[in-house]
Amino acid sequence: MSSAKVMLLGDIGVGKSSLARRLVFDRFETDYKTTIGVDVMTCDVLTREGPLRLILWDTDGDFGMSIFETVYIRGASAAVVVADVSRPGTLVKAAHLARGLAERLPGREVRSVLNKIDLSATPSCDIPGIPEAAQTLRTSARTGEGVRDLFEGLAAAILRRGL
Ligand code: GDP
Repeated sequence: MSSAKVMLLGDIGVGKSSLARRLVFDRFETDYKTTIGVDVMTCDVLTREGPLRLILWDTDGDFGMSIFETVYIRGASAAVVVADVSRPGTLVKAAHLARGLAERLPGREVRSVLNKIDLSATPSCDIPGIPEAAQTLRTSARTGEGVRDLFEGLAAAILRRGL
């Protein structure tokens, strides 16, 4: 099976680790400790294009834009930029990260995600700076809504584009 490295980026507490754990273990825990540095998890995903092993690099939100100066980003096929629907400031950070990705990892598959939609009744808002074709997906690591679609869609796009 082929594999692809996927970066999870976004401010502290937006739910990066929770999204990864929802995908990998189909579980949600509220008392999980904050990621220090980088956590790596793998998950085999079956798509219309075939199977793909996603290697998820869950990064500490403390990196901010300095993530692009680290070796962690090397060899990534794709990135998921996560914001928290209940904290507008995280959308601003996500927009910066999306711009950084376009500059530093051009041509990679990028998904912007508005997480914690279980907390909000408001309609989705887009993360500015994300190319228009890639609209913002809405997820809840808590209920699982949108999480499989996010990663399966990403895996299919990676396979289709040979990234
Ligand atoms: P990270 O720092 O981006 O990895 O964020 P975490 O995954 O550690 O989540 C930060 C906090 O938000 C934790 O208390 C999680 O339980 C909570 N959280 C994460 N995702 C969701 C979600 O979809 N809905 C709700 N209500 N809380 C969430």
